[in-house]
Amino acid sequence: MYIVPERAIADLMTRDAAFDAVEKVFAAMAAGDAYNFPVVREAIGHEDALYGFKGGFDRAGLSLGLKAGGYWPNNLEKRGLINHQSTVFLFDPDTGKVRAMVGGNLLTALRTAAASSVSIKHLAREDAKVIGMIGAGHQAKFQLRAALEQRDFDKVIGWNLHPEMLLNLEEVATEAGLPFEAVELDGMRAADVIISITSSFDAILKADQVSPGTHIACMGTDTKGKQEVDPQLLVRATVFTDEVAQSTSIGEAQHAVAQGLIGEADVAQLGAVINGAHPGRTSAEQITLFDGTGVGLQDLAVAASVVELAVKKGIAIEVDF
Ligand code: NAD
Repeated sequence: MYIVPERAIADLMTRDAAFDAVEKVFAAMAAGDAYNFPVVREAIGHEDALYGFKGGFDRAGLSLGLKAGGYWPNNLEKRGLINHQSTVFLFDPDTGKVRAMVGGNLLTALRTAAASSVSIKHLAREDAKVIGMIGAGHQAKFQLRAALEQRDFDKVIGWNLHPEMLLNLEEVATEAGLPFEAVELDGMRAADVIISITSSFDAILKADQVSPGTHIACMGTDTKGKQEVDPQLLVRATVFTDEVAQSTSIGEAQHAVAQGLIGEADVAQLGAVINGAHPGRTSAEQITLFDGTGVGLQDLAVAASVVELAVKKGIAIEVDF
């Protein structure tokens, strides 16, 4: 088997490779060639940790495996380690033998950023100029960097509950040579594309704070109870997701569905747009919303891609197992 340690990922995995892997696996999911297994997530009663598994099988890309890991809230303070910890395990679908063990921390940020980026490519207006960020934490920087590659943006605007964190966004905007402006939520009406990536449990963005024609990627809501936008926004928008079952149970759509405002049939797979089976955006005034819940197949896709690169460059550690 191959081992690709966490420390090797930054030099191996590019945003382009993550984008390609995620776009392909979304397409495979919508074509019925790939499916996710039920997610396991447990409070283990030790170190306040949440631990779980996200797995799946992609018959088209021949990726089988799981990401194991979770959230250890005391890591940073007690041990100087990051709080989110994960590892991806890949198996040979022909034999069941373990094929690779891959550090999953950076890969998680890259595959999550790739998901919103794929949604922008397929759903945002071609002439989008202003990108609005809601959230300015660890993931937000990855999200913004990837999104800026999708359209010819000329300005970044941002809102965050903790305004001092907005410097994170300004840093990425400056890196890309773009002006950054901190705005109130009403100011999001100026955005053509909005990404929300927070740990919020209440709606932040109201339906009337989004202009016609906007594409919004809601990326923070990945657990029951979390919420970033007004459920009425999902009524106004055409809603897309990575996986419908997750979107309506743990994603942003959970609230609009629970309130009976929309049904499962109102949520389409982004992969269907990629495959040409769904028209996607059909007018310049339409609001499109991508509910990015994060699926195990995304992790397997980027891990498989990184193993291939590591083997090619001769830096994968080979272990007789
Ligand atoms: P972080 O701790 O670095 O940043 C958290 C962000 O949320 C900050 O901007 C903070 O100001 C904001 N925030 C915190 N509490 C808030 C509240 N009550 N209301 C509004 N904003 C609040 O976290 P991160 O690593 O950037 O992750 C952000 C979110 O993304 C988390 O909820 C995480 O679970 C989620 N996530 C989703 C996926 C996916 O695939 N969809 C993948 C990874 C992370």
